[in-house]
Amino acid sequence: MEIITKNALETQKLGEKLAKDLIKSNQPVVICLYGDLGSGKTTFIQGFAKGLGITKRILSPTFIVSREYEFGKNKKFYHLDLYRFNNEKEAEILGLKELWENKNNILTIEWPEKIENILPKDRVEVRFEYIGEEKRKIKVMTND
Ligand code: ADP
Ligand code: MG
Repeated sequence: MEIITKNALETQKLGEKLAKDLIKSNQPVVICLYGDLGSGKTTFIQGFAKGLGITKRILSPTFIVSREYEFGKNKKFYHLDLYRFNNEKEAEILGLKELWENKNNILTIEWPEKIENILPKDRVEVRFEYIGEEKRKIKVMTND
């Protein structure tokens, strides 16, 4: 699915809808978000978290790599930003695999290309493209 959003709120709404759809259909727990700085990844994730029922404000984890939020019944939502990562070794140190192997977790990953070789096959990919000041092209690829 590919759509063009005309402002940040539309991008948030799209993220919110994806979260609700994934919960309903028991889809993959890893959502990879690709795109340049400022293309809307964090904005999308803010909506995604809302779709999971998280009411806390979602701040960008760029400097701390990972933020964790609780939702539902003993479930956890992780927002990862690997911008400062160099390689898969760092991911191992952080125990990222353990995070996505736990089916009670949902992960959104900004800059997943940093760990391309270890990403699980079963995942959703969302690609962001800057079109204009407030326009973004967003492509969502689920595995069905
Ligand atoms: P990234 O995480 O990809 O670096 P952010 O979501 O942090 O990007 O930043 C996107 C910026 O662009 C925000 O300031 C947001 O308000 C703005 N923006 C303007 N139009 C849009 C849009 N259509 N979708 C997403 N963000 C938008
Ligand atoms: Mg970001």
